[in-house]
Amino acid sequence: MNEATRGEQAKVQYGIGTRAWAGLCHNCPICAHANRKPGTSFEKVMRWHRTWCPGWNSHTKVYGLKELPQ
Ligand code: SF4
Repeated sequence: MNEATRGEQAKVQYGIGTRAWAGLCHNCPICAHANRKPGTSFEKVMRWHRTWCPGWNSHTKVYGLKELPQ
């Protein structure tokens, strides 16, 4: 499924709030930045943050799990 089709399907399945949060997380560089510093407090805090971040939850619903650099 291409990105445009997935976007159209997301519009049908999810409300504007969920899509807005998903888009915010999709473009947010913070977790990717934290993941490049393994073992630091910053990386641990951001890992915890993802357990409750509405952006992360929405991204997972709409686009699937966000890939982070190792
Ligand atoms: S989980 Fe939160 S901080 Fe991390 S990339 Fe998504 S919106 Fe940004």
